[in-house]
Amino acid sequence: MADKEPKKPYPVVDNNKCTGCNSCVEICPMEVFVLENKKALVKKPGQCIGCHACESQCPESAIKIVEE
Ligand code: SF4
Ligand code: SF4
Repeated sequence: MADKEPKKPYPVVDNNKCTGCNSCVEICPMEVFVLENKKALVKKPGQCIGCHACESQCPESAIKIVEE
């Protein structure tokens, strides 16, 4: 079954919650985020290792790690 294949994690940012504090940009070990127009942009989702550091770090709870 296809659901036995390893799932790929990546972050999704809620732009309505993001204040552009830059915490996720700083904490992510894989440089997945960049700040653009004062919002966190998921620039390189393919590099995410699913460590959830950004999710726990975000003061606005604007980040969710999803897997597909
Ligand atoms: S940590 Fe949260 S609020 Fe801060 S820039 Fe990243 S997504 Fe936005
Ligand atoms: S889960 Fe980890 S690797 Fe993925 S974007 Fe967040 S901090 Fe970066």
